[in-house]
Amino acid sequence: MKKKLVTLLIMISCLGMLLANLTIQIKGEAKPQTLKETTFSSLNYVDLEDFSTIFKAISKQDRSDNRLYLNLYDEQFIFLEDSPYYTLKAVSYNMNYPLFRKGERLYLPSIFVTEHLRTHFPAAIQRKGNTFQIAKPIDNRLKTIVLDPGHGGKDPGAIGKKLKANEKDINLAVALKLKNLLEKELGVNVLLTREDDRFVSLYERTRFANEKRADLFISLHSNSSKTMVSRGIETYYLSTAQTSDARAVEALENAVVERFEGGSEAKKKYDDLSFILSDLAQTEHLENSNNLAVSIQQNLIAGTQGIDRGVKQANFYVLRGAFMPSVLIEMGFINNPEEEQLLVNEEYRERLARTIFEGIKRFKFRYDRIRNT
Ligand SMILES: [Zn+2]
Repeated sequence: MKKKLVTLLIMISCLGMLLANLTIQIKGEAKPQTLKETTFSSLNYVDLEDFSTIFKAISKQDRSDNRLYLNLYDEQFIFLEDSPYYTLKAVSYNMNYPLFRKGERLYLPSIFVTEHLRTHFPAAIQRKGNTFQIAKPIDNRLKTIVLDPGHGGKDPGAIGKKLKANEKDINLAVALKLKNLLEKELGVNVLLTREDDRFVSLYERTRFANEKRADLFISLHSNSSKTMVSRGIETYYLSTAQTSDARAVEALENAVVERFEGGSEAKKKYDDLSFILSDLAQTEHLENSNNLAVSIQQNLIAGTQGIDRGVKQANFYVLRGAFMPSVLIEMGFINNPEEEQLLVNEEYRERLARTIFEGIKRFKFRYDRIRNT
């Protein structure tokens, strides 16, 4: 008898799982999408990831206090694990049954989708039976990346000691390979600040990224130092706080302005501009810039077996004024004969592009889905 009851319960819950699906019709799209429901303790849920994919929602979990931040239609909902309550604009709402965690996955009570969302967004979401007509979701996922091959044209960048390789050529070659990978394998839109050997001022590079509303700005460089023994890879993001080592690289990259963009007059322009812009532009992106830098650096080191010089902060002109997470990668020392040999090698350039790609991919996954803090 007991066994029968259990079987019956399993059958009912399976039936529930099979039958209970929500149909989501996004306005302007030809085909409706199916949002699967699943049942826990006879209560209906939708998988947070499935929901996020259809509604283009971005969620961020704070595992330290079990909160879930869910952004959609430019509003932020804050949920608490195992609690039926959530807040929107500082007002609490009750779903009657709780946000549920199973392993790594979070499940939203179906009632949030079927009832609550309609009351919060009456203009955007309408219900007809089990079909929901929704306005085109605001897509905040990472879509556009600007790659910035450092130097170019009259500015060769650093020059190799042994093979006389020009930094500008290495930067461009890796950028083109990276663009290819990002477009093919990640489906993002990739724009280059230069696609051939031409001079582009530092100011124009970030202006281009801002104009194109890029989600990421990645500047590619090859390093140089006074001594030929320096070696390894480092990734920077913008900051005014810095070590003396970082300051040396900063001086090297920033020298472009003095030498190729009209001397100290141009430098003053950048300094004035940075005073106004850099704080505003980069402060809100510091955390993401840091995360992106760490992700790229880790993958670069793992994939190339290069010397890890770490993630650093420096005050680069080229990163100032960029209204998006931005990093600058120094892919190796061109004045170190061994590393110069690598940097001109086609296979090694492939590997650099591939490992930077992996770093961006991992960052994008977290950025688009669940950003753990
Ligand atoms: Zn450079």
